[in-house]
Amino acid sequence: MTGREGRDGGDVFAGTLAELTWHEVDRAARSGAVLLWAFGVIEQHGPHLPTGTDVYLPGARLRAVRELLAERGVEALIVPPYYWGVNVVSGAFPASYSVRPELIREVMVDLLGGMARDGFRHVFCFSGHGDALHNRTVHDGIRSACERTAANASFVTEPALARRIGLDLDDPYLTLSGPDEPPPDGPVDVHAGNWETSLMMHTNPDLVREEVRARLEPSGLGPRELAVWRRGFEHARRVTPDGYLGDPAAADAGEGHRIHASTAEQAADAIVHRLQGAA
Ligand SMILES: [Zn+2]
Repeated sequence: MTGREGRDGGDVFAGTLAELTWHEVDRAARSGAVLLWAFGVIEQHGPHLPTGTDVYLPGARLRAVRELLAERGVEALIVPPYYWGVNVVSGAFPASYSVRPELIREVMVDLLGGMARDGFRHVFCFSGHGDALHNRTVHDGIRSACERTAANASFVTEPALARRIGLDLDDPYLTLSGPDEPPPDGPVDVHAGNWETSLMMHTNPDLVREEVRARLEPSGLGPRELAVWRRGFEHARRVTPDGYLGDPAAADAGEGHRIHASTAEQAADAIVHRLQGAA
């Protein structure tokens, strides 16, 4: 991996099928290409990261996954990101917009149905956003589309998230990616903290407010405060008044590169595994 993927000035259409002609998309569908599609959100990410963080990060990840799939002989196209998601946790902050889950589900049914009509036989959906209701909605949209249209789609996600949103790990609409391990000990780092800021410093460094980031105190919260934070809205705003939960000052671009590369590798492996099972 070059480490350059994703550093293209924040253009969310970059590398997606929005840059292709219909002839090129049609040819890819006929030759058996799979689709990769990220579901993000516009949401506050502390005083140092942009509101599109959950759209930029999966975009960069999908571009890396596509390269890795190509090395494994699988052609993939990237669908432009879906960027209006569900916000419960950040729902009481400015710049955190939410769409009713049933509307997202119906849009997914229409669009996944359209992709199936084009002849795409596998759509792999990803989430850029940790909110539980957002992720249940993505899963619900996939299941509804598969039940009501000719779509064949699945949700590429790690076992811990699948469990957190109440799914069985053998759910047919899941493509599990990465190891099944408990969350690490120590202070919680789940939103705009060390890992997410590290990733943005790797993929979109120009969008990180570096002088602000370097001076932020770690939130230093544990599982009990995390449970309150996850109730969302005013609870989350009270627990994290500045909007981040973690340690952004400890973030590091090299660590971001490592996480980016390993999660892309895990996703590519999971997709190849599912395709082999389907063959
Ligand atoms: Zn985020």
